Amino acid sequence: MGIFNGAQQAIATKINKTSTLSNWNDWKWQLKNSISTIEQFEKLTGITFCDKEKEQLKKTMDKFPLSITPYYASLISKENYQHDPVFKQSFANIHELNVLDTDLADPLSEDSDSPEEGITHRYPDRVLFHVSNICAMYCRHCTRKRKVGDIDFVPSKEQLQKGIDYIKRTPKVRDVLLSGGDPFMLPDSKIDWLLGELTAIPHVEVVRIGTRMPVVLPYRITDDLVNILKKYQPLWINTHFNHPREITTSAKEALAKLADGGFPLGNQSVLLANVNDCPRIIKNLVHKLVQNRVRPYYLYQCDLSEGLSHFRTPIGKGIEIMESLIGHTSGFARPTYVIDAPGGGGKIPVMPNYIISWSTHKVVLRNYEGVITTYKEPDHYENIFCNRDCENCNLDLKLEGSEEIEALGIERLLADSNDSISLIPENNERYNRREE
Ligand SMILES: *Cc1c(COP(=O)(O)O)cnc(C)c1O
Repeated sequence: MGIFNGAQQAIATKINKTSTLSNWNDWKWQLKNSISTIEQFEKLTGITFCDKEKEQLKKTMDKFPLSITPYYASLISKENYQHDPVFKQSFANIHELNVLDTDLADPLSEDSDSPEEGITHRYPDRVLFHVSNICAMYCRHCTRKRKVGDIDFVPSKEQLQKGIDYIKRTPKVRDVLLSGGDPFMLPDSKIDWLLGELTAIPHVEVVRIGTRMPVVLPYRITDDLVNILKKYQPLWINTHFNHPREITTSAKEALAKLADGGFPLGNQSVLLANVNDCPRIIKNLVHKLVQNRVRPYYLYQCDLSEGLSHFRTPIGKGIEIMESLIGHTSGFARPTYVIDAPGGGGKIPVMPNYIISWSTHKVVLRNYEGVITTYKEPDHYENIFCNRDCENCNLDLKLEGSEEIEALGIERLLADSNDSISLIPENNERYNRREE
């Protein structure tokens, strides 16, 4: 498997004269030889910095450490590295030390919405489970930048057990999202054990894994790993490509293994200034993703984490990109553009506006071409008062096994059976969980 192209071979030989293709394709070899210093980076890539630059870079790296796999480094174009999307995502930038007054260490309040070590419980029916604090490559744009490089924090079985126990005693959790760090940094045996524990919980309907391995270390997707994962269907896998340049032969092979394994694949991109803040780049990216059986899932507005100010774009850039996708390309090739609410409100989708105006019986809409159209509302629509008594409803819902949950949030304001006219966030379930 894999090819040993010129750039890869050059780096492999600099690591060790006798390096072979099978070393290169071995994920543990890649991790062992990951780049963590400027000197190593200079030696392997041939890109050099002057003393003054090095001094500033070292200060940056004291705060936010560096780690780049030889594979990911091999994608950097040496000639044009200052503008290279791979370089910018992986190599330290002195602007990371610019902390703005509006930056936040934990912008998503993941620590406040954590009822148990390793768990972020934000939404009613699903949790984020941080099962590893390490990654193969330290993304410079990491939203959890505050934690990057915390030494040796791979949770023990005992620590993971606490998260598992929380999920066990919380029957509302039907979806568990494994994140980190990168869950695939755990050894195969621990992944096997963890998935076994989680999928044995009766109310857990699906497990998801968020991993950047197909992008930064595609050789981690081994046949052994896929065979372990296959035992725990339904398992959804989300990865994190930000630029079409990352979709290489090796990445395609990793994605093919996962798709052939039967896992639905999604992709979460982050909108990054001077990396992918361009409608053409994103369109090219989503097209390449769907060609490789990966469905674009989210496009994230860059978070307000400390050290990311140089990566942020205005929200308008994201809306402009969505405008260039909706209608212009396949519906399944377009992600949902989201802003993860500072303070911990979760993901908020944002879109261009398509409704231009409306009256009691007509809605005026526009399409992607600017054509303005009118939708005539039905003359007779009998609204059935919904008292959430599904048993006696004419719609004849046989929602077996789907437990009725009280309407929440804006849904509650819209519900016939509820007479609240305003929302009082203090009574929100998520806040109550914080109090507990
Ligand atoms: C993103 C996220 C999820 C999953 O959200 P989906 O929209 O279902 O993908 C769950 N919990 C937390 C804390 C999250 O940030």
